[in-house]
Amino acid sequence: MSSEPTRPAPVRHQDHGTWLVQFSGRILVVCPRCGGRALVAPLPGLAAPKYFSSLLFQPRRLSCTNCGKAADWTAARRGNGLVGAVPGGTEDPFFRQPLWLQTRCAGRILWAYDEEHIDALAAYVGARLRERHASPTMAMFARLPVWMKSAHRRAEVLAGLATLRALALRSRPAERSDVAHERGDRPRHHGGVLFRGGPY
Ligand SMILES: [Zn+2]
Repeated sequence: MSSEPTRPAPVRHQDHGTWLVQFSGRILVVCPRCGGRALVAPLPGLAAPKYFSSLLFQPRRLSCTNCGKAADWTAARRGNGLVGAVPGGTEDPFFRQPLWLQTRCAGRILWAYDEEHIDALAAYVGARLRERHASPTMAMFARLPVWMKSAHRRAEVLAGLATLRALALRSRPAERSDVAHERGDRPRHHGGVLFRGGPY
């Protein structure tokens, strides 16, 4: 594909998406109206899905406590099926708003969906330091980019995750991270093969 020649080499996405999707139930984003922190979550009253993958088809609501903005998302229909959202990159997969939790780290952009996602990333990065035995859960994190997993970046990444935790406590437009803006790195389908251009 030559449509995006300036992008870094795309990385196959499938395995990564499998674990990222479980954090897609609660996503902090930049509000499209006021630039403060908004929340993207399943519509109230929906039953918890039986499978993580179902999260990508559940109707979502974006809501902002700063300005009162509210918007709903439902999966598009294609024939008899629904077209689910595709997680990955620095935009939420539903409204495609920039993630609120973004910061510079090791020359890259470190991002997360919410506090639980930060904790999971921190547990992985920190656990490597203590050389714990790998578990199936840990294996799901094996698809993180090398820069996040490399030993000499560990302190930097943990500091970056601490910055994201502090950002999660802020919500006003003026408190937004200066890198929380559109980057156009969400995953895209190319001829049926899913690629992603985001950092992880
Ligand atoms: Zn707002």
